[in-house]
Amino acid sequence: MPRTLVYGLGESGRAAARALAARGESVLAADAADTEQLRSTSAELGVETVLGAGPEILQRGVDLVVTSPGVPPQDPLLKAAGAAGIPILSEAALGLKLLPAGLPVVAVTGTNGKTTVVDMIRKILEASGVEHVVAGNSWRALTGCLGEVERAEVLVLEVSSFQLHHLPEPGFRVAALLNVRPDHLNWHSSFEEYRRDKLRIFEGQGPGDLALVSRRDPVGWEAAGGFVARTLVIGEGETGVWDGALMLGGERLVGVEELSFAGVHNYENALFAAAAARELGAGLEDVREGLRSYSPRPHRLALVAELGGVRYVDDSKATNPAAVAAALESFDDPVVLILGGSEKHTDFGEVVPRLGRCRAVICYGEAGPRIAEYLEGRAVRAPVVRAGGLAAAVESARRAARPGDVVLLSPGCASFDEFSGYAERGERFAGLVRGGGT
Ligand code: ADP
Repeated sequence: MPRTLVYGLGESGRAAARALAARGESVLAADAADTEQLRSTSAELGVETVLGAGPEILQRGVDLVVTSPGVPPQDPLLKAAGAAGIPILSEAALGLKLLPAGLPVVAVTGTNGKTTVVDMIRKILEASGVEHVVAGNSWRALTGCLGEVERAEVLVLEVSSFQLHHLPEPGFRVAALLNVRPDHLNWHSSFEEYRRDKLRIFEGQGPGDLALVSRRDPVGWEAAGGFVARTLVIGEGETGVWDGALMLGGERLVGVEELSFAGVHNYENALFAAAAARELGAGLEDVREGLRSYSPRPHRLALVAELGGVRYVDDSKATNPAAVAAALESFDDPVVLILGGSEKHTDFGEVVPRLGRCRAVICYGEAGPRIAEYLEGRAVRAPVVRAGGLAAAVESARRAARPGDVVLLSPGCASFDEFSGYAERGERFAGLVRGGGT
């Protein structure tokens, strides 16, 4: 019997191992690390497991490797598998192979906005009554919901570049590429590789399928010329935001004043979601209802408090400069911007031209001193203030803000210098703002 090595035993790897074992397949589970937590979580899998694994385990008769998003392609075991000609699939690719034949799949990728668009599609499908399952990336792993998928009419899949890297010819019924901006360049060997991986979302599509790209994204827009699938460009022709309303193929969906989210990027997200959901059978009224009832998920431009006439906004999920740029474009009022966190050496060039309305820029955390120095070198008009950790940054922001201003945590960096992730950072921000300090 062919043997599959499931490599990387985080949530998605464990789900993949379980799905294969439940189908009676021969599975070997492995992780390069060997920690207490991995020991206890992998013990429950009920399959042969190797912790602290290296390339030598490929010699145990492995025919296929299923890899997890956390494992970069330069990993020695993956490199050895590639050199030995052993096929490598991502966990999402395995999940897609195990789906019921003919199930329509809508897949969403992009540097920023994936979770928001998937969530908007979910809202619209809920309004429409189309039975659906949402999986991938920030949702549950696809291989962990195959049972529910059996009963669904549609699968909505959020897919990262890490999963797309090992996902040949997916042939999605609807594929949406929101944008491609520099990020994750520690995982991908170059921007070119990242771009290529994102464009894989369109591979295997036929003329009956739908491809969605944005006029504002040069990567998707330039590639669209070569697509086999029907293509809709968001922001072009009769699809975009015209005269304060969201228009899809000439149909007026909603006025922006009816929505409880702001920002051109979010209107664009809503149009991607509307186009995808329409293709899956949602009616125009369902789209309207879904979008009108949509409110932003936590840590994505979410208002956490209004104190002394100052609005405090948590955009902790903004972990790259493109997301910061989108956040700055969402406000007309002066902004006290908090930037910083763990150092990814990203280029803040695209943020600089959008700092015009900033009252002050507070730079904190591990990356703070470099960002402050960079902004000063670019002669940014707003005062640049250095702060140690997030608590000091919030204090500086509070002092700088005037009534009517927005204090915006849109850090443009990951959070691991101080926190376990963006959610903890956002919660701490809200606590500091409200004065609890937690
Ligand atoms: P992802 O799942 O791709 O990380 P999210 O929907 O969680 O995307 O949003 C991540 C960050 O990007 C948030 O700060 C959000 O405000 C911002 N964002 C959302 N949509 C877009 C977009 N279309 N363009 C730029 N930034 C966006």
